[in-house]
Order: sequence, then structure tokens, then C-alpha cells
Amino acid sequence: MGNKYSRGIVVLLVVIFSACKETPKNKVPLVKVEIAAVEEPEDVYEFGYNLNDFVVKRDTVRSGDSFGEILERNKVSYPEIFNIAETAKATFDIRRIQLGKPYTLLCSKDSLETPKCFIYQPNLEEYVVIDFNDSIQAYTKKKPITYVEKTATGVINSSISETLLDKGLSPRLAYKLADEIYAWTIDFRRLQKGDRFKVIYTDKYIDDTIYTGIHDIKAAYFEHNKEPFYAFQFETDAEKGIVDYFNEDAKNLRRAFLKAPVQFSRISSRYNLKRRIAVYGFKVRPHKGTDFAAPIGTPIMATSNGTVTKSERRGGNGNYVKIRHNATYETQYLHMSKRNVKVGQFVKQGDVIGWVGMTGNTGGPHVCYRFWVNGKQVDPFKQKLPEAKPISDSLKVEYLDFIKPIKAQLDGIQFEAKPEDFEEPQGETIEPNENLIS
Ligand SMILES: [Zn+2]
Repeated sequence: MGNKYSRGIVVLLVVIFSACKETPKNKVPLVKVEIAAVEEPEDVYEFGYNLNDFVVKRDTVRSGDSFGEILERNKVSYPEIFNIAETAKATFDIRRIQLGKPYTLLCSKDSLETPKCFIYQPNLEEYVVIDFNDSIQAYTKKKPITYVEKTATGVINSSISETLLDKGLSPRLAYKLADEIYAWTIDFRRLQKGDRFKVIYTDKYIDDTIYTGIHDIKAAYFEHNKEPFYAFQFETDAEKGIVDYFNEDAKNLRRAFLKAPVQFSRISSRYNLKRRIAVYGFKVRPHKGTDFAAPIGTPIMATSNGTVTKSERRGGNGNYVKIRHNATYETQYLHMSKRNVKVGQFVKQGDVIGWVGMTGNTGGPHVCYRFWVNGKQVDPFKQKLPEAKPISDSLKVEYLDFIKPIKAQLDGIQFEAKPEDFEEPQGETIEPNENLIS
């Protein structure tokens, strides 16, 4: 709790000698000792200030509020506000304060309660300080972030979500296991009763106190149909920030392509060369894409690493993006409401390249996903998709070394024994009624 210092408890020893006039000289005077504990207010440090030195006013930016408005309401003169804003400008443009974000005013402790400092929190991790107590100073600071490593185990009874819920674990663990780590290895909709897992993961805390959820999974072990599946997180390219999960033999768990460019979507129209459409008088209009229906604004992800070759709005395609992945593969994503990438940009699998929309020729919000192999459009679902980049031979030695202690740690984690895991004692079962006299 780095920010809290206690001045402690001031212990007063009150020693009262009895003032009895008639105390005989040979008698020890009566001594009464009283211990009283007086607690002083605890120092509370936040944003680098001792909040006890101020009258602290906390609020959130309301509709119609501006920096000037807030200070004016708190009796700061207009020329002074102007002066503060001008000086702070180099660090923080006061026009950037947003509706609903929290701010704190530190005011003098006298009856005037004059504001001395304005602190704005654009997000949980950062805060902007505009201090105008003496000279005007403005700066942005980050709250300290800590990662705490934890482990968890679970046995599947019906679904992974239920298992996590039962154990008070975050549903994000399920998402990460199902969609990030084991998406290509285990079908999480077909888990078996008795399938079980162990994970080593990190929780993220801001300021040691604000829990912001699961940060990452370091390693996992999933037993599906009695088959073990190990996964270890390993960075293969520090420059591009490429982190993958590999098994105990350094095999990449990921495929080179995601199954779909959007999450939680449904396929509304498959690749079909013989599709007939009524609007064209039942003429054959081949559909060389796969349509994924999803609400407007759903993020569209690059299904594989690659370089953006097209990002524009044109005709029936509407807003679309095309990516070249290597000499063989290209993908394209149509009808976006908005694009998020530029031509020439390198994107990683899972990066958001735009959002679902209805631009171009489309009857409803969806993304039309097109897939090329050697310049020919094909059905991505009929392709045997390549494995993601394997670990290079030189890195493999390093990897196997790296995972050794982690695997030992993972193997050392015991599954929690549940009551139903214990077998009934054999041969001692007494049938009801047997010993009963009726
Ligand atoms: Zn389509």
C-alpha cells in the first residue's frame, strides 16, 4: 500500500500520583497508570499529495462542463483560469477533458477553499496534474502497475464458464484458453465431463489496489479426453512484439489464420459458386466470399499476420481492407463502417483493422471475408490452413530451456480433490432396510 503512511498512534502515558494528604511516609504512594490512545488522522497520499493538507473535492466532468467552468464554479477568477490554461497547454490541452471522467480539486483548508490543484484522470492508469498553488505546473503521471502471478485449476463438469464461476475465477480465463491459446487444438464446445486444466496467469493491479483483471496466461495444461495439451507463452520476435503459445515440443499451437475475422458472429452466407439471388432474376451470382453477420461496430480482425495492400472505399465493396500475408495468401474484408489501417502497415493476427458496417452493396451489417491462394479466390473453410510460424532452430534450444522450470511448476500444481473424486468405500455399504426391524 505504498501510498498510505500512518503517523501512528500517539500513546499517552498518563501517570497520576495519588494526592492523598495523609499518605504515611513509610507507605508507597498509590500510582495509577492510564494508557490512552489518541489516533491522529492518517496521512493519505494520492497523486503525490498529502490529501490531509487540503479540502478535497472529487467529481466527474458533467455535461456542459469545461475546465474553465469547473474552476469558475470554485471561485477562481477568469484571468487566472486563462493564465493556467495557457501555461498548462504544452503538457495538457484543457479542451481534452471528457464527459464522465473523474477529476479532483485540492483546495485550501481555510474558509475560502481556494482551488490549488486540478487533477484529471483520463483513464485508470494515468492522471494529469495542473498545480497552480505557486507557479503553474502541469504534468502527466502513470500510476504504478504491478503484476501478480497466480495459479488455478479446474475440473469441467458441464462448461468451462461454469467451472470458473464455481471457483470465483474470471471468465476472461475461459476466453483466453478457448480463443487465444487452444482455439486450434481443442473444441471448447465439445469439452468432456472430467476434462481438467491448470493455469499459471498474471493479474494486473494499478496502484496495488485497483484490480483490472487477468493480464496474461503464462502457461497452461489442459487435459481433454485424457490427452494432455501443454501451452507455454514465448516471445519469438521482440521487435514486432510477436508472442505465441507453443507446446512442450516447441510446436506452435496457433494456425496461421483465424477461423473468422469477427468474434461471436454467425456465417450468413458461405462461399458458393452456384448461388442464385432473386434480385438478379434468379441468375447465378457466385459468392466468392464468406459473410459473417455481426452488429455494426463489431471489431474486424486481421486473420493472419501480413501487410495491408488496400485500404479504401470503392463501389460495391464499400470500405474495405486487403492484406497480403505471404507469397501464397491474401485476405480481404468488405463493407466496413470504418477502416483502422493504412496501406503498407504491418498487422498481426487479431489486430483490429476496421469495424463491421453496411457500406457498399449489402443488405445488412456483415463482413464479407475473401480468401486468395496464389491469386485465386477460394473457400477458406475448405483449406487445410498452414500452421503458424514454427520456432526457428536457434530459438528452439532457448525455448526448451525457458519452459523447463515453468513446466515443472505446472506439473507441481495439484488438482483440488473434490468430494465426488473420492471413491465410495467398497464392500462396506449397508443396504437400507437390511438391519432394520420392521
Ligand atoms: Zn459476401
